[in-house]
Amino acid sequence: MADKKVAVIAVGGNSLIKDKDHQAIPDQYAAAAESMAHIAGMIENGWDVVVTHGNGPQVGFILRRSELSKNELHEVPLDYCGADTQGAIGYMFQQSLINEFARRGINKQVATVVTQVEVDRNDPAFETPTKPIGSFMEQSIANQRAEAEGWVVVEDAGRGWRRVVASPLPVRIVQRDAIELLIREGFVVVGVGGGGIPVVQDEAGNLSGVEAVIDKDFASALLASQISADLFLISTAVPQIALNYNQPDQQWLDGMTLAEAKAYMEQGHFAKGSMEPKVQAIINYLEAGGKEALVTNPDNIERALAGETGTRIVP
Ligand code: ADP
Ligand code: MG
Repeated sequence: MADKKVAVIAVGGNSLIKDKDHQAIPDQYAAAAESMAHIAGMIENGWDVVVTHGNGPQVGFILRRSELSKNELHEVPLDYCGADTQGAIGYMFQQSLINEFARRGINKQVATVVTQVEVDRNDPAFETPTKPIGSFMEQSIANQRAEAEGWVVVEDAGRGWRRVVASPLPVRIVQRDAIELLIREGFVVVGVGGGGIPVVQDEAGNLSGVEAVIDKDFASALLASQISADLFLISTAVPQIALNYNQPDQQWLDGMTLAEAKAYMEQGHFAKGSMEPKVQAIINYLEAGGKEALVTNPDNIERALAGETGTRIVP
């Protein structure tokens, strides 16, 4: 077992929702199964894997259901949306992996860990919430809910008003030891879904959920360093990272060093809210002693590991 290498794979929204017309559960399951088949290929080649994932759209669906039925049923707080989606997405991933293992004759078990991630109560992010969640609202409704429930609401690029919550930095993966034990015992683990359920600890040591969203790439990077993963793989919608992305002089990158990644970041090559947090997460992982990071899309995971595509980032 000691010779096996551990990878943390952060799978993006495209591993569950392909487009606006494919959002229902059977569509999500089909997309999940496709991505998990590539991860099974990697496991077949000898990797031990922790799969992490986003949950933005799924949390949005739960909030919308909760809002539509609020005259009849209790509403669902944001930390519970996180827990619900970790369970449902974990179920999709573990079922697709188990079925794929059976098909390939791989003898492996999969476990999903409902994961809390501690954040600092004094994180400055709580003073300036930036992460939009839930439905668009008319200004009058937005103001009402801000008044009644203490929400912070903002106008979102002319499309209407939305609630925003803080996006604090992850400081501790509460279930770190459980995840590490499972992976060392040969389980495939699904965890840290949606960046983890954000919790704070009080003076007495009690944890409680907070209405915030942790960036999934940051939380995945923290997990990768805290379990000393050999590889931090980010699976997203593009096969590689580019310089001058979407411009005529776009240039795909096969690799970069930590120093180059920092320089390109300063030059503004990575879009805020999408590629920038990924590259920042990779920088965090490598600076904490991580060995290697890789960015590619689900279809290319096996080819990228063989060095044929993807963007490889090394110290
Ligand atoms: P995920 O759901 O996997 O977190 P995001 O949409 O947040 O995906 O981030 C991935 C997206 O970042 C890509 O699909 C691409 O459109 C965008 N992107 C921004 N800058 C770059 C870049 N420099 N190179 C490649 N992709 C980029
Ligand atoms: Mg993202």
